[in-house]
Amino acid sequence: MYESRPSAMSSFWMPFTNNRDFKRDPRLLVSAKGMYYRDVDGRELLDGAAGLWCVPCGHGQPKIAEAIAAMAGQLDYAPTFQMGHPAAFELAERLMAFSGHRFGHVFYTGSGSEAVDTALKMALAYHRARGEGGRTRLIGRERGYHGVGFGGISVGGIGANRKHFGPLLPGVDHLRHTHDLERNAYARGEPEHGVELADDLERMVALHDPSTIAAVIVEPVSGSTGVLIPPKGYLKRLREICDRHGILLIFDEVITGFGRLTTPFAGDWFGVEPDLMATAKGITNGAVPMGAVFSKAFIHDAFMEGPAGIELFHGYTYSGHPLACAAALATLDVFREQGVIENAARMQPYFEEALQSLRGLPHVIDLRSIGIIAAVELAPIAGQPGARGYAALKQAFADGLLIRITGDIIALSPPLVLEKKHVDELFGKLARVLTQLA
Ligand code: PMP
Repeated sequence: MYESRPSAMSSFWMPFTNNRDFKRDPRLLVSAKGMYYRDVDGRELLDGAAGLWCVPCGHGQPKIAEAIAAMAGQLDYAPTFQMGHPAAFELAERLMAFSGHRFGHVFYTGSGSEAVDTALKMALAYHRARGEGGRTRLIGRERGYHGVGFGGISVGGIGANRKHFGPLLPGVDHLRHTHDLERNAYARGEPEHGVELADDLERMVALHDPSTIAAVIVEPVSGSTGVLIPPKGYLKRLREICDRHGILLIFDEVITGFGRLTTPFAGDWFGVEPDLMATAKGITNGAVPMGAVFSKAFIHDAFMEGPAGIELFHGYTYSGHPLACAAALATLDVFREQGVIENAARMQPYFEEALQSLRGLPHVIDLRSIGIIAAVELAPIAGQPGARGYAALKQAFADGLLIRITGDIIALSPPLVLEKKHVDELFGKLARVLTQLA
């Protein structure tokens, strides 16, 4: 099915893509199994990125495919406004268990962007439900990526994603980012320096008054903006400042959730619990679009204590879609039955060592990793930021390796079912790519 070149390529306006260049020299994937993609020419490519960070259990898991097919035959669609279907409830219970019962409730969305906007709206409405409607200010962080909804780009911290779209949400501030190659290059795991950057939040509290601040949102580890790992103690300090001032802490775990850091969620790795957590991607192993916001019970309960009626005026046609629920339930089975997170934890030291073996290769200015997520930062070509990264992406594809780039940073996040031979292949190929680029 659809295994040859398409008859035409002009009508698909591709997202986050250099469309003109792509259509001259397309990279077309037609099938995937385990750790590998196959392209339209029949070549195998090692998936160094788990698609877009979203395939933790590896491609083509039969149990997930079968669950989706079975649900498509049984219940293709059902609304979850004022009615529901059993799989959506079953999945919610299973997700609570997967999170170690640290959360009380889950709200379904169709994507990570929708999960972020949902979490922001929940935070605003929560304060209002408690009679603190003055808490309207949202705080994000420079170099944060929170999807592409207007809420997400407002709290996000990527200039290119914001500047073309007008004034965005009012009343948003940004903490400084924590990326500091001068002090922290080649750090393994959490960098030593920079915990004090969390105090930016205290400065904003002093500036605006805590009674105006609803929530802070950060990715525990920023993924799309280049794998930025928080300095030691940083997230704990943010949590403390939030607690002091009644501010909600939202973690965007769209990338880090579902095992990427060798724990179910990044909050588990760092020992810091958010009040709301946005997730997506790995929840269905990438097979059906789905996002989910995990909420502490006290947030949900604030709505239940209000007058009877619709408690939160929010939701999507595809919230809790039956096919997504079936895929997510099967994904949770695969996580457990195949010990996916345990495998990631076993492979992590080998993965980190292999990454560090790239030190000294042409253009490499930093190597960093945490869990099964790593970055190779390359020196930019003078006057052409991003050109070297893009060249690496194309060369890697030609050499049978799928990677993700952000400017001149290569991000690596292979499926968590990787074995040593895949780690060897991944870093062996990448070393050749870097040498060829030179
Ligand atoms: N938040 C984070 C941290 C992400 O990495 C992403 C996607 N890469 C999103 C939100 C948006 O998710 P989606 O593309 O599913 O809308």
